[in-house]
Amino acid sequence: MGLFLSLGFGAALLYSEASRAEGEPLGWGWLLLGLTALGASLGVRVLRRFGRLTPEEAWRLDVEVFAHLVVLAFGVILHLDGDLSGASYPAVYVLMMLAAAFARPLAAVLVVAFTLGLEAAWVTITQGAPALIGHWGHAALILAFASVNAVVFRAEISRVRRLSRAHIDSELDKVREAARTYRLLGPPSSTRDPKSERASIRPGAPEADEERLVRSGVEEIHQVFSFALELLRGSLRARTAVLLWLDAPGEKLRIHEISTSAQNIDPGPFSAREGLFAAAFSRGAPVSLSGPKAGRHLPYYAIVPQVGAAAAVPVLEHGQPRGMLVVDRAEKQPFTQEEESWLLEATHFFNRSIQNERVFIQLERAKVQQGKLYRAAELLSQATTEAQVIEHGVSSAREFASFDFAAVTLHHRGTGEHEICAVSGAGGQALLGQRFRHNAGLVGMVTENHHPLPYRGQYDPKRQLVFSPDLTPPEMPSLIVLPLLVHDRALGTLVLGSRQPNAFRDDARTTLEVLASHIAVSLANARMLKRLEDLATTDGMTGLLNKRALVDTARHMIRKAARFDKPLSVLVCDVDFFKKVNDTYGHDVGDIVIKGLGAILRRQKRDVDAVGRFGGEEFVVVCEETDSAGALLLAERVRAEVEATTFHANGEALCCTCSVGVATFPAAGRDWESLFKATDEALYASKHGGRNRVTAWSPRLGLAASA
Ligand code: GH3
Ligand code: MG
Ligand code: MG
Repeated sequence: MGLFLSLGFGAALLYSEASRAEGEPLGWGWLLLGLTALGASLGVRVLRRFGRLTPEEAWRLDVEVFAHLVVLAFGVILHLDGDLSGASYPAVYVLMMLAAAFARPLAAVLVVAFTLGLEAAWVTITQGAPALIGHWGHAALILAFASVNAVVFRAEISRVRRLSRAHIDSELDKVREAARTYRLLGPPSSTRDPKSERASIRPGAPEADEERLVRSGVEEIHQVFSFALELLRGSLRARTAVLLWLDAPGEKLRIHEISTSAQNIDPGPFSAREGLFAAAFSRGAPVSLSGPKAGRHLPYYAIVPQVGAAAAVPVLEHGQPRGMLVVDRAEKQPFTQEEESWLLEATHFFNRSIQNERVFIQLERAKVQQGKLYRAAELLSQATTEAQVIEHGVSSAREFASFDFAAVTLHHRGTGEHEICAVSGAGGQALLGQRFRHNAGLVGMVTENHHPLPYRGQYDPKRQLVFSPDLTPPEMPSLIVLPLLVHDRALGTLVLGSRQPNAFRDDARTTLEVLASHIAVSLANARMLKRLEDLATTDGMTGLLNKRALVDTARHMIRKAARFDKPLSVLVCDVDFFKKVNDTYGHDVGDIVIKGLGAILRRQKRDVDAVGRFGGEEFVVVCEETDSAGALLLAERVRAEVEATTFHANGEALCCTCSVGVATFPAAGRDWESLFKATDEALYASKHGGRNRVTAWSPRLGLAASA
């Protein structure tokens, strides 16, 4: 669309400029109109370019934006100079340079081609086709210019990008390192390489929240430290107040925060085992120096200035050395005991700040986790079916851990089998719906012992069985199996796998366990709901629909038949002389006959037909898209099978017959009430006609009944 606008406007421009008579005054009116339209379109496109785009959209937009710019430039150049050889022409070179540097490569090529085409068209119109030959040199120059720019600028841009990426990475590493020294973060895992750690941090992922939290914690600590050092330096009239922090092996001290009026500070690191620092650490108390030699003990000056007094106070956390606070001043005035006690107090303050931040981060972490758990629980409570619970459960788990594979297994207590009833993630789809026998694999053990496995998340895909020997998840270095526990029962398991080593660490495991129990409770609720629903709609004795459910279904089927103009038939089937069966053999035997008839009807009907017990030994079948002839065939099959069946109960063998009435929509009635009345009339006719027979409703029957 944008390209057509450029092309159209380009053509109009060339045409009007070429047909403008020599010496005719410049007509800005129409040009401004065109420029405004093109400019507006350009504006819209430039704005869109800042949004989220697919690669396809991005390069198309590049072509459109630069084509617009080229046409705009041509319009102005031709209007000002009257030709392409005037003073304004270098603007085209600038555009080519910009396109070569900033547009996607393919878009840049197209833009250059478009520009050359526009120029060629101009030359052809104004000087005729033969003049094009003389124009080759110019075209080659533009091409060469664009190519050189592309190479130089792109190399430069990618160099700058690389540098800034490296800078950001090193800043992030520093923050992480600082967070570790303050113990806001756990130690780096030996298997996790920092590059993949960075790559795995996506906005919105659990790691991104953690990163933000820790970064703000580190910044907070730095601010507090820097303020405290400024204050100390001012109140002690010191030249420098510096907080040095000990590295993990306890060998080196690094400058963590410094407030100084001196130049030439040596960034360190400095040995913690020498001179003043060693003395302060070994005393575990402040050490003061004064006199001309004091400066020699201060390694943080690259050029040692005049130092009159210095004091070093170790920062101890639970008796363990963590860092060193050092102050010095130019005056030969030793630090008094009172001043030393201020310094000591300052080290306590540093420790408390770190501890506060640690507690704050933990609280924040807990708050974030609780919020997520709350949302997950809310989502799960909305799920009413097993499938919904599983779907919501897996999607909620993503809030707490990054994983590449997830599966939910359910344990069927009756058969002792496990069923893999949900799989998410690539490579595991073949597992869906598979069942396996209870075994000593991780899923089996978790179901039995109710504890997550593998122990401490140490998973070895070569040695540990997850489902069964022939059902294995995609191979991944991290995997965890969590029990779905309700009270003391494991309904199944939630299995998560990750391509990241050590992905399910203790903190994530704990929250995942809580989530798994939410899933389990929702699963139990969904099952109970299903059972209640079944109870409300099925007949306990036969397992067929009960009267209410059958009438609901029948009304729905009749509406459908009416909408699609299809026939539908209703059958009523009643055992003949059933009272006699009860009287002769007893109610138990009567019940067995009822169940037997239910089984016969279930077998004979099609899947789409609905069958229900209406009460006593009376059954109703509703058959979709079935006319009277089809319904009579079914009725006859049922009647014949009942007649041929010998029911066995309590050592007795007995035979029965049944009578059937059939009525068909729409002839016998257009709604449930009238159709059912018609089947009843037909059944009545069967009974009166001698029983053990089938009758279809006809208007004559209706007349007879009403007579
Ligand atoms: P007809 O040929 O005219 O149908 O005669 P009938 O004796 O079968 O008469 P009807 O259909 O009216 O008989 C219904 C009998 O079914 C009455 C009742 O004792 C019996 N009945 C109802 N519900 C149950 C039940 O759940 N179990 C048993 N065993 N009998 C039932
Ligand atoms: Mg009966
Ligand atoms: Mg009856």
